[in-house]
Amino acid sequence: MSTSTLRIVWLYPDLLSTYGDRGNLLVLAHRARARGIDVEPMQVRSDQHVPHGADMYLIGGGEDGPQAVAAERLIDDGALAKAAEDGRPVFAVCAGYQLLGESFYANGRCYAGLGILDLRSDRGESRAVGEIAGEGIPALGIGPITGFENHGGRTHLGEAVQPLAHVSAGIGNEGVTEGAWAGHVIGTYMHGPALARNPRLADLLLSWAVGAAPGALPPIDETWPERLRAERFAALAPE
Ligand code: GLN
Repeated sequence: MSTSTLRIVWLYPDLLSTYGDRGNLLVLAHRARARGIDVEPMQVRSDQHVPHGADMYLIGGGEDGPQAVAAERLIDDGALAKAAEDGRPVFAVCAGYQLLGESFYANGRCYAGLGILDLRSDRGESRAVGEIAGEGIPALGIGPITGFENHGGRTHLGEAVQPLAHVSAGIGNEGVTEGAWAGHVIGTYMHGPALARNPRLADLLLSWAVGAAPGALPPIDETWPERLRAERFAALAPE
């Protein structure tokens, strides 16, 4: 397991930071430092080059316009696709998730995505807004998932990706599955922020970043994440 400083890149806060997804960076930094792992968070604006060779890349959600601009800049830049190809962990939320696919819709037109994940996004008949919950796929060991979703797009998975979870409440990709996973790349519709609500998902990403076996990170105090999870699942339980 690598013990040097973990460099976590938070991409494009000037375009894709409207849904509180920066909380994912804070959660990862907290959970790493609680295990004695130093963290260097790096915010990279859309007018800057994406650094090569960081230990993890995060990208958040946003409105259609900034999403389209972000996709064009990331395609031009090339470093995020290279990082994913090299096995660096990438965690993408909502607009950031859609733009990792082959194509997505924004403001009524189809845009090319980065092609990192084998999926395509189009538009749903209505906006998906509200709590989302489900069961993470067993291969990832993340347990039940909880989040908040707010998107107009619907996502259709190709054969080279697996879903992150199967949906029991909310819409996710298309009402059945939620998010996608391939290699060390994960995309999700969960805001909340996702990693505050899903600590096992946070630790999975950290274990990939430091080269530890999944589940090998030392346990830390989960009192507050567990309270948050219990509250959110209870909010979905029938009266
Ligand atoms: N613009 C995208 C959609 O509405 C993503 C929204 C988001 O990131 N919350 O589908």
